[in-house]
Amino acid sequence: MSNAGEILAARERRRNIVTGISMKDGAVTVRANIPGPDKGIAESYLIVRHFASIMADIIAAKPVLLDGADGPAVIFDSEPEGIKRIAVELEEKHEIGRFVDIDVFGKNCDKSVSRGYMRKCYICGQPAFVCSRNKTHPTERLLTVLRSYTRSYFSKKVAQCVKEGLMDELNLENKFGLVTPTSRGSHKDLNYDVMQYAQSAIIPYLTEMFFIGLDANEPGQIMERIRKKGISAEKAMYAATNGANAYKGFIFVGGVLLSAAGYTLGRASGNVFANVEKICADILGDFEKYPDSFGAQAYKTMGVTGVRGHAIAGFPVVEKAMKMIEDDESSKNLLKTLAYVVGEIDDTVLLKRSGDVETYRRYKELISTVSTDDDKAVSALTDDCVAHNISIGGSADVLAAAIMMKKLSKLFYCDFS
Ligand SMILES: [Zn+2]
Repeated sequence: MSNAGEILAARERRRNIVTGISMKDGAVTVRANIPGPDKGIAESYLIVRHFASIMADIIAAKPVLLDGADGPAVIFDSEPEGIKRIAVELEEKHEIGRFVDIDVFGKNCDKSVSRGYMRKCYICGQPAFVCSRNKTHPTERLLTVLRSYTRSYFSKKVAQCVKEGLMDELNLENKFGLVTPTSRGSHKDLNYDVMQYAQSAIIPYLTEMFFIGLDANEPGQIMERIRKKGISAEKAMYAATNGANAYKGFIFVGGVLLSAAGYTLGRASGNVFANVEKICADILGDFEKYPDSFGAQAYKTMGVTGVRGHAIAGFPVVEKAMKMIEDDESSKNLLKTLAYVVGEIDDTVLLKRSGDVETYRRYKELISTVSTDDDKAVSALTDDCVAHNISIGGSADVLAAAIMMKKLSKLFYCDFS
């Protein structure tokens, strides 16, 4: 929290920067409209990042994020024709537009272009400046309303990113023994519909993990809290699938990444993968707690740390997969990325189904080196996997998580590194 003097000084600094930019080319700034002395609350960063993404698409330019005692702001160094009308429309009509200020500065001008309308108070609908001047509503009440609306909005948006990540993966065909729209692959207890029942069951818990990260004061608090959600998510999944494991791995990978994303996006800066490392620092201890699990056995007998090992390292393979996906979410590129992931990680699903290390290594090699552009080769290898009950569930979880993170990075204009 900052005092009034610090806020004023920060505001002055920002004005000088904006004026410097706008005198040359005009400028557009995006800020959150936060009541009270603490302008840097987590919601403030979410709002600014989200509208930065919307405006970046419209303006077709990259913004700069400024941070100070008066809260975060992004600045675009251009002012395209008609942008004021679009800005006003967003403020007036977007579901959470009332919580954002989008100011347009004309070229050679040190003042923002007038809105041309009075902003309304988001509690009583009176002109906002009147309620602000008369202190009509207690700050706490204003903040509660703001939090409730923005959280409800971003819950829907984050859930949508998770859903799309899972569906983009599920919709790929010829996937080396995984479930697809037309095949159960090597999973007799699953199919396309059951996978979607499982998705609907787990997505609310995963979305909550994003907000657990957002609300944490430090990464060390997060694991214990998301673990509880993870257990509830597993229970809901098994209830939805009649006991089949559809997404146990994803609940872990996706959940850790979502909590790290929430933690990272709710502050000025930070690297999401570095935060994953901090969140997961202590999880190898799980093998001592659950010595009979397959993961613990694989660790003991083969030194394979599986998904926990990747988590401790900060999921570098998710970061690499995101770079491979870039802006190409075509099924060809996603399949290529999946094959790459198989080569990069210890996939304990593949290990378990292979039965021995030699078979595991052979399939790992076959899948990671197949030419994914060659439909016939991919199809033949998939038939071989199904005939031998092979699957790469661990790698599929990583791919779905990487796609989900790409969607989140678009939602909040953040490259996460
Ligand atoms: Zn009011």
